[in-house]
Amino acid sequence: MKAVVLEKRGAEGASWRDFPDPIPGPGESVLRVVASSLNRVDLYMRDSGVGITHTLPQVMGVEAAGEIVEAAPGSGLKPGMKAVLYSEAFCGRCRYCLAGDQPLCESVQIMGEHRHGGFAEYIAMPSACFFPLPGDADLKAAGALMTAYLTSWRMLFGKKALRPGESILVVGIGGGVAVACLQLAKLVGARVFVTSSSNEKIRRAVEMGAEGGVNYASGRVSPAILEMTGGAGVDMVIDSVGEASWGESLRSLRRGGRLVTCGATTGGNPPADIQRLFIRQLEIYGSTGGSIGEFRDLLTVYNKGLLPPVIDSTFAMQDIRAAFDRLAAGAQFGKILLTT
Ligand SMILES: [Zn+2]
Repeated sequence: MKAVVLEKRGAEGASWRDFPDPIPGPGESVLRVVASSLNRVDLYMRDSGVGITHTLPQVMGVEAAGEIVEAAPGSGLKPGMKAVLYSEAFCGRCRYCLAGDQPLCESVQIMGEHRHGGFAEYIAMPSACFFPLPGDADLKAAGALMTAYLTSWRMLFGKKALRPGESILVVGIGGGVAVACLQLAKLVGARVFVTSSSNEKIRRAVEMGAEGGVNYASGRVSPAILEMTGGAGVDMVIDSVGEASWGESLRSLRRGGRLVTCGATTGGNPPADIQRLFIRQLEIYGSTGGSIGEFRDLLTVYNKGLLPPVIDSTFAMQDIRAAFDRLAAGAQFGKILLTT
């Protein structure tokens, strides 16, 4: 088969080339991939990969949608079914799996990180990771669903769920997770505010239902957010930017508000501002991925047509380098889709 194979670190390290077809292990099934999409973690894998146990060469890509071509006996799957993959091969036996919290699995193997991924014509995964889609499902859109939308689902609804009428600040609108958070927050009737360094991205967010935005390149975020919320601040902040935005994110929260983080693209060690934490009784928690149960809920909403992934651009997998350039430039609004 053909696949995007990472052979060495850096921009020249990944290319579309011949690679052995996947051989399914016991209980595994095989998907013919139609679409996948790029995520920040792919850039991290390409350029560093530190802290993620894996060996090169490796097939990249942490998500995939397509058609089942080989179904494990007893799995209930059938060749010809459309399906989207849950990207984390989980053990099903550890305390976290038994509690239904698969993203915390003690021996989790994420496709495109710890095992071969979805930027390929074929991929084998445990059958429990295959989620059949309706016969008329749009497989290209489904290729952009798993990572950004499930991550966002868990951030918004996983611990202290965002409720109708609450307000949320999404830092750095434009990336796949941020745009998904905007869509999901609107879906439950929350008030949404965004930040960006681009007025054009703020304009697009407002078009999608955001109540207001702050251009952080031209002024501080928190005074503007306080003004837009009648002096109170927001109930929830979604911050994947890290060091550069952290202080202003904390200052934008109302008393008792909560900050959820799923990334630190500008660095991971901002000042903790502990006095603000306890005096205003703020909560901070981390989130990554989502559980099987959350993925089911997400797919129910998606299959009703209520959550169309926002696609920024589409590239053939053989043009992986151009797709990476688009992601690295940070100019996108929504997902960068890859097709076989
Ligand atoms: Zn487990």
